[in-house]
This record gives sequence, C-alpha cells and structure tokens, in this order.
Amino acid sequence: MQPELSTSHPPGLPNDVQVAVVGFGPAGALAANLLGQAGIHTLCIDRTSEVYDKPRAIALDHEILRVLDNLGVAEAVAPYIAPFDLSEHFGSQGELLRRIGMVGTPYPLGYTPTMVFTQPPLEAALRDHAGHWPGVELRLGTQVTGLMQHESGVMLQLCDAAGGSGRVTADYVIACDGASSSLRGMVGATLDDLEFDEPWVVIDLKVDPDKLDTLPANSAHYCEPDRPSVYIVGPGNHRRWEIMLLDGEDPREMERPERVWHLLSRWIGPQDATLWRAASYRFHALVLRDWHLGRVFFAGDAAHQQPPILGQGMCQGMRDVTNIVWKLQAVLAGQADPSLLDTYGEERSPHVRELIEQIKGIGAVLCERDPEAARRRDARLLAESGGVPATITRQSVIPPLRAGLLSSSRRPGTGRLFPQPYAMAAGREGLLDAVFGTGWRMVIDTRAPGWRPEQLSALSDAAQDLGVTVLALSDGTVAVPPAVEAFRERDGVLAGWLAEQDAGAALIRPDHYVFGTADAAAACLALLAELRLALHAYAGSIPGRTTAAA
Ligand SMILES: Cc1cc2nc3c(=O)[nH]c(=O)nc-3n(C[C@H](O)[C@H](O)[C@H](O)COP(=O)(O)OP(=O)(O)OC[C@H]3O[C@@H](n4cnc5c(N)ncnc54)[C@H](O)[C@@H]3O)c2cc1C
Repeated sequence: MQPELSTSHPPGLPNDVQVAVVGFGPAGALAANLLGQAGIHTLCIDRTSEVYDKPRAIALDHEILRVLDNLGVAEAVAPYIAPFDLSEHFGSQGELLRRIGMVGTPYPLGYTPTMVFTQPPLEAALRDHAGHWPGVELRLGTQVTGLMQHESGVMLQLCDAAGGSGRVTADYVIACDGASSSLRGMVGATLDDLEFDEPWVVIDLKVDPDKLDTLPANSAHYCEPDRPSVYIVGPGNHRRWEIMLLDGEDPREMERPERVWHLLSRWIGPQDATLWRAASYRFHALVLRDWHLGRVFFAGDAAHQQPPILGQGMCQGMRDVTNIVWKLQAVLAGQADPSLLDTYGEERSPHVRELIEQIKGIGAVLCERDPEAARRRDARLLAESGGVPATITRQSVIPPLRAGLLSSSRRPGTGRLFPQPYAMAAGREGLLDAVFGTGWRMVIDTRAPGWRPEQLSALSDAAQDLGVTVLALSDGTVAVPPAVEAFRERDGVLAGWLAEQDAGAALIRPDHYVFGTADAAAACLALLAELRLALHAYAGSIPGRTTAAA
C-alpha cells in the first residue's frame, strides 16, 4: 500500500537530488560510491548509523573486486580479503565426490578469482569511501517511511531517530533496503518464489591460531543425509560452518552456545575457539517480478535472495548496482533515452534467476536427506566424471548476460565479462582499467593480419563521436593513429580470450560486460552503429567513462 503524503511535488521545480539510495548495506554503499564517482548528486539514507557488526557474506568474486579497484577502494579492503581455495564435496560415505575451485593463472581479471573476506570492515571501508565523493550526502539514522512518485521524480518521506520528519525529492531512487524491503510494499513490487526454503544455522568462530592446523585445510560440503553441512575457511582465523537444521529443531534454541558447540564437536570445542556469532536463517530463493516500478529501481537483497551455497548474494547485489548506475548516468546526462533503464531488469532478472537455478542444483546435491537417494547421487556424480572426482570452477557457474543491451549478432563473447590484461603502454603499465580508465571501450587486436592504419582511423573517428575509447593490442606492425591507445599485454590473457571467442575485437560496456565482438574492421563499425541506435544517442557522446587513477 502506498502511504499518503500530504502534498505533491510542485511542478517545474528541480528535485533535491538526482538519485536517492535507500539502504547503506553493501549494495547501497557501492551504489553511492559509483554515483559519486559519476558525479551524480546523491543522497544515501539508512535507518541505522553503524555497519552491522557480524559477518553474513564471506565469499567475493573478482568481478566485484575489479569494481572496487575502479573506485580506488581495493587497497583499503585488501587486509580483509584472502583467496578462497578449493571446496571439497564429500558424499554420504565420506568419499570425495568433486571439488569446486577457481580458474588458474594468469587470472582473467587480474585478481584472485574467488576470495573470502570479512564483511563488517569491508562494508565500513565502502561506507567511508562513499562519504568522500563531493556529490554524495549521507543521512544515517533516518528511515524512509513513505514514498510518492510523480511525473518527474519521487518524493520520500523521512523520519529520523529523534522522531523528526522530513522529505526529499529525487529524480530516481535505488532501493537497496534489504531482504525485508519496505519500499517493495510502498510501490507494490512482488517477489516470485523459486522454491527453496530450508532452515540452517550459520556459525562463525575465531579459532585460536595454534589450533588452525587441527581443522580441515580446505573448505568442504559434507553431503551427509543425517545432517548436511558446509565448512568454509575464512580469512585469518575466521572459520564458518553452515549446518542444516532438522525437523523439529527450534532455530532460536539451536543458536545457544551449548547447542552450537555440540554441533561443532566433530571439528572443534570451546577451548580452542571463540564463538563470534551463531544465527539461524531460512534460506530462500526469491526474485522480483518487476525490477523497477516507475522511477524506483530495486537492487541487492531487496530484489532477490538466494541460498548462500555459492556465496553469491552480495555479489549479485553489487552486480545490480554496477549495472544500473552507468545507465542512470547516461539518462541523467541526457545522452541516452530513458528506455535504456528498462534494460536493467531485462538483464539482471534472467541472470539472477539462472544463477539461482545453478545454486539450487548444488543445494539439491548437498541437501539430500534420503540415505538411499544420497548413495545413488554419490554413484551418479562419480560416474559422470569417469570415476574420478571432477573439479569445476566457481567462475564456470556464473552465467553471462543473455538479454538486454547486447549486440543482436550474439557472436561468441557477447554478454560475457571482459578480461583485464596487464597492459604495457608508452610510459605506463598495470591492469587495463588502471592504465586506460573505464567506460565504453573498443579493444582491437591489431596484430591480426589485415588491419590497416586507415581502418583504425575510421574506427577511431566513429568511436570518438560516441565517446568510446579505442584501445589497440599492438606489436608495432600496424601504425596506430594518435587517437587510439596502443598497448602490449604481459600474460596473453586478452589474446587468449579473443581467440576463444574467435574474435579480433570487442566493444565493452562501462560495467565490463561485452556488448559484442567482431572479427574485422567492417564488423567493428557495425557494432558502433548498433550501439548508437540502441542508445538513441544521435548527438553527443555516451557517458560512463572514468579516467585511470593518476
Ligand atoms: C548466512 C549468510 C551467508 C551469506 N554468504 C554470502 C557470501 O558468501 N557471498 C555473498 O556475496 N553473499 C552472501 N550472503 C548474502 C549477503 O550477506 C547479502 O546479500 C548482503 O549482505 C545484502 O546486502 P544489501 O545491501 O542488499 O542489504 P542489507 O545489507 O540488508 O542492507 C539493507 C540496508 O537498508 C537499511 N534499510 C532497510 N529499510 C530501510 C528504510 N525503510 N529506510 C532506511 N534504511 C533502510 C537497513 O538498515 C540496511 O542497512 C550471505 C547471507 C547470509 C545470511
């Protein structure tokens, strides 16, 4: 139900801010940073003043670290991050069924592909960073209690901790107000239930350093029908267990220290570790039906919830805001048609749904409670991998974008994350984004036979007109015009990726997803023409570019 506001926004007056972000959890804090970096006047509101001091998320993908690095916050969070090595899956008789690992070196994005991290300090670093952008205002200890949309904006009703009330108007709202989002109710958004509903208790310990060796070195899924459980090797001396609750077990009762230590007794006892927290959850799989209603866009847990089996909930929320912010920037700058914003849900909804199905598949293996069915499962899994436990990578489970603002040619590579090679250019070297900045980029392998300088010049003119930076992987054989940035790469990451796609070039979006790939100059020009049409950007350039840090 939409709460009543006593007045509507006076027509013709500008709104107070361009974007209001409701919720300063990880999704909202990242949104505030990205909006701040884009120079968008932003207000971020949260009813709490402090970071939630217990960890929830524990795993982080390289895709997210790349975005944090682009923002200049990677160094600040580095002390709280460690590699997430192998996770071993054991069957009902304790036999090794399979392993989940990460892709090997050279790393495709330049960072460890999967990491474990400590959520509260990472969130605190993101919040701190958000407050440094000149265009970002924070209003903490303030709750959004009402919302009214009008033709040119959204009015939010606010209530602070002292009971004072106020209002703010924004061109757009990003609702990052968490799993129990009240903004969903205010605009009438509904969730689809993808049918997963399991009670688990999550236990975090700080283990005495001299006892760490007594615990398994690798993370593990114990696919035991008596009581499925997960063990995760966190950063430093942080170790986590996620343990399924059985029929009749009271979730609150199972959080009590004596019950917790009983559950953990096969691994560790209270003399060897400190109980950081124990919390019971019902793990759900829920996704919004409409990702925006009018000018209100949902992101993070407000838009979807998934079982934490692959550690993707927060990562998905961060993908959401990375997706929407560059589009809002384009529309607010008048450089793209507002219909571009429709691609947010078109892209994020199928991505989230597909990943949830993958997670449910892994969950079904883990959560089998029937001993006979569990034995059949174990035999099947081993048979499928020829009797030897298979190793799959977490990266292979994350789907590409399959719909939205993508080239209609759907050549291989379209919708995938673009790699980040270590680049060496005149006088500069480092990861590609740090050397050349982000935003729209066309990357061409000019070492392939057939490229001529005049083709590069023509492409560069067409790209410049659209605000696309052209980067040339070059060995000096073809003269590269001054407007094109030439570089070599150190590890063959880019050349390998292009070869896999059977492509010589790629057009990359500001969120690092590939708009399309091409094999030659004519196809590159066609990609640019397609982008121009898609954005309705008949005049001016497209925004989303940030320059490399000095
Ligand atoms: C046990 C467990 C394990 C997990 N493991 C992982 C993992 O390994 N990897 C991973 O990526 N994810 C994981 N997740 C998921 C991850 O923790 C969440 O997806 C993430 O923390 C949600 O972030 P958010 O910013 O969307 O929401 P939240 O962190 O819930 O933030 C919402 C914010 O909105 C504020 N708010 C709410 N309503 C209002 C209002 N009306 N007005 C103002 N402010 C409001 C709240 O105060 C809060 O600060 C896990 C989750 C759980 C429970």
